[in-house]
Formats: sequence, structure tokens, C-alpha cells
Amino acid sequence: MANSNPEIKYTQIFINNEFVNAVSGKTFPTINPSAGKKIVDVAEGDKADVDLAVKAAKAAFDRKAPWRQMDATARAKLIYKLIGLMERDLHYLANLESLDNGKPFNNAVYDVYGSIAALRYSAEWADKITGDTVPSDGPHLTYTRKEPVGVVGQIIPWNYPMLMLAWKWGPALATGCTVVMKPAEQTPLTALYLCSLVKEAGFPAGVVNVVPGYGPTAGHAISVHPDVRKVAFTGSVEIGKIIMAEAAGTLKKVSLELGGKSPLVICDDADVEEAAKIAYAGVFENMGQCCIAATRTFVQEGIYDAFVKKATELAKTRKVGCPFAQDTQHGPQVDETQFKKILGYIEKGKKEGAKLETGGVQEGKEGYFIQPTVFSNVTDEMTIAKEEIFGPVQSIIKFKTLDEVIERANATNFGLAAGIVTKSLNNALVFSNAVEAGSVWVNTYLAVAVQAPFGGYKQSGIGREMGKEGIELYLETKTVSIRLPTKV
Ligand code: ADP
Repeated sequence: MANSNPEIKYTQIFINNEFVNAVSGKTFPTINPSAGKKIVDVAEGDKADVDLAVKAAKAAFDRKAPWRQMDATARAKLIYKLIGLMERDLHYLANLESLDNGKPFNNAVYDVYGSIAALRYSAEWADKITGDTVPSDGPHLTYTRKEPVGVVGQIIPWNYPMLMLAWKWGPALATGCTVVMKPAEQTPLTALYLCSLVKEAGFPAGVVNVVPGYGPTAGHAISVHPDVRKVAFTGSVEIGKIIMAEAAGTLKKVSLELGGKSPLVICDDADVEEAAKIAYAGVFENMGQCCIAATRTFVQEGIYDAFVKKATELAKTRKVGCPFAQDTQHGPQVDETQFKKILGYIEKGKKEGAKLETGGVQEGKEGYFIQPTVFSNVTDEMTIAKEEIFGPVQSIIKFKTLDEVIERANATNFGLAAGIVTKSLNNALVFSNAVEAGSVWVNTYLAVAVQAPFGGYKQSGIGREMGKEGIELYLETKTVSIRLPTKV
């Protein structure tokens, strides 16, 4: 059940299956975005703590360590055990997430289920990762082995703290890697509680380590550490570039899941009401704090006015309020920085000539709530049509032909997701083949599935998470050739 005051049990760094203070003794506050007030102080990890965490993860990855000696099925069983504990503590985890992140409790419950799905999907791979036998030239038996990369650094954002953790832990653990993770400084609490479940599930010490702290300190220490063989990052393009540069010094493998400015194209033949609902969910989900948010809603001229009317009506019905209230659909933005940034974008939208149809201001007086906002008459050159806002702002843009809108949809450095709403199979096929995006949705949106690869074209990222490709991210391929007897 929803409870706005869950007991906070873990606030320390997790290394070697123990909760410890930061070497520096420093802490930082994590804030409740609904009230703008501190929840609790959390240990602030830095280079010294990352060094200890990597040491533990490296020892756990030693070829003679229990984790490396374990059957793949035993690794999977540990993940299933963790899933069972998450199911047991489902509501507690959801409450903790709502408190720290601000998302409505019901959405947080959904996130726990999504996290479980990602872990289960990954666990099922554990004993199905196989190499090939290769018909090589010469008298050799040649085969490939798929081996875990080693110690992996994982740096995650605050918008889906548990989900992003599961998307990264799942493949790493299923393949037999060991983990040093840094949760976002805004939302460390669920990651730390999940560490207690890792221990309870019986994972060997050092397999999972979590160091809360800030990006330029703890995050940087992970990205440059010589014993971290891969870094997996989800977050902004700006920080993704920094991490890639940081990782270059030790030539780490890098996977990046970055931002987007995703186009959703609504064609004249669409049912306006249905299309408006798809667009509404696509942009306002998680208070717009979604890398795949449909932030450029392109609507064909024949239904443009009717669509704007419907979209505005829908946005007005969205129930903004306390994340723990049963009927709340929309909570606060995650912190003051984001809150101010989004309001800044809204001001820019107005100044540059977009028409504010609804919203545009803070909701209430406390916390970081922003009313669902709809702009019409948006044009491609406006800042709100070009930059990632990461807030509840819908920009409705007019187009004439499919050909033209494909060019405009692709005229961006991003390429994470795209969608089209149409009754025409031809439109759907032409668009989905031509649009430069890692995920394309037809007559739906946000249809992310753990079984399918997810990631970005262009500056929206490198690599694909989840699906088979997501497992591959954590594997090295080794070719072994054995000389065959030449006489029988
Ligand atoms: P957002 O814009 O969603 O807040 P960021 O890209 O700023 O996302 O942050 C995502 C994650 O990257 C967070 O865990 C943050 O602490 C971390 N981070 C920020 N700067 C760095 C850095 N220089 N090196 C490594 N990690 C960083």
C-alpha cells in the first residue's frame, strides 16, 4: 500500500556485501521533490570508495572466486532469488522510489514489475549463451567462447532509478560480470535497499557494489579506473560525451543510452481522439522525464486544429498532485534544477512565438510540480522543438506531406525513438524504414520491451540494451583453436 513515510533503512555505500561509510566521512542530502525537503543524508562516495569497490569487484571476478566457479544456472538462480525478494518487498520499494523520485506510487509499482521483468529476461539467458564451432582452414578444431567482460562500471540516471538499475544489473550478472554502480545523486535510496536484497539473496561478496555520490567525483572515478573494463551509462548526451572521453584513457568498452527529441507523426487519416491519447501518454509519462518522450508531435494539416483541441483537453484532465494519492497521475519534477530548467524552456517557447494552450506554470506552492503544458504553432527552429526539455511540455508542429515530415523528423542529432499514427500501411512502412531512430512505434508509443534491443542512432547513444544485443554488451568473444591429430 502507498505510504508516504517508508522507513529508510540503508544510506551507506555497499562494498563486498557490507554497508560502509565513505572514506572521507562525507554525506549528501537526498531530497523529496514533492516537498523540496531533505529525506536523509547518504554516504558520499568518491575516488577512494570507488577504488575499494573496484578492488572488491575485481577480487570477486578472480578465476578461482566462487562467482567464476559457479554454473550459469546457479547465477540465474541467484537472480531469481533476488526477484523473489523484490516481489516480497514490492510496495516498500515502490514507496521508497516515489519518495525519492516523486513519481506516483502506482507508476513506481509498475517500475518494480518492469525491473523484475528485465532481471528475469536476463537470468533466462545465463545458460543459453553459446559460442560457435568454426570450420576454420587447417587441421584445427576452432570454436568460440563467450566470456564475461569483467568488472563493469554502471552509471545511471534518476528518471527510472530501479528500472535502469535492473537493465544494467540483469545482463551483467547473467553473463558473470561483477558490478560497480553509481546511482544518480538525486535518487540513491532504492539502489541501496536493493543491495540489501543482493546480500540476502546470497550473491558472493563483491559481485555487486554500489557507490552513491556525484558524477564528476564518483562517476568520473569509475569511468577512468584502469580495472573497470566496460562502462555502461544512461543519461544526457553532454555527460555521455564526457564519459566516452574519460573511458578513452583506458580504452574501456562503452555503451551509452542518451537523450532524444523524438518525433511522433500523426497523419490525416488517424482517429484524432486515439492519436491525441497516444501523444499524451508519449509526452507526459513520468512527468516528461523520459528519454524517449515524444517531444515533437508532428500533426498533418487536415486534422491539426482538432488535434490541438483534443490534446489540450487531455492535458487539462491530468491529475497533478501528491505521488502517494491513489488518483495522482503526475508528480513533481525530480529536483529544483530540472524544475527551473523546464520553466526556462517554457518561457523561451512563449518568447519565440509558440502558442501556450494550457499549463506553463508551477502547480501549487510547494515542491517541484509543473502543470502539463501544451504548445501549438511550434516551428522547427524554436528552442522547444530542438532541445531536450525533459519535462511535461508537448510541442505540436504542423506538417503537409509524409515525405517532408520524414526530412524534418530526421533533422536532428538525436535518434532514440519515433512514432507514427496512421491507418495506411504504406505510410507506416515508409516512415518506419526512413526514420533514423533506434525504436519506432506504429499506432502506439512507449512500447519498450525487455526482449527487444533498445538504444539510439546518432548522438542518442552507442550500443543496444536488453534483447540479445543487450546481453552481448557484457561479453567478450574468444576464439580457441586446437590442433587436430593428423594421423588416425
Ligand atoms: P540527467 O541530465 O538526466 O541528470 P546526467 O547525464 O547529468 O543526467 O547524469 C546521469 C548520471 O551521470 C548521474 O548518475 C550523474 O551523477 C552521472 N554523471 C554526471 N557527470 C558525470 C561525469 N563527469 N562522469 C561520470 N558520471 C557522471
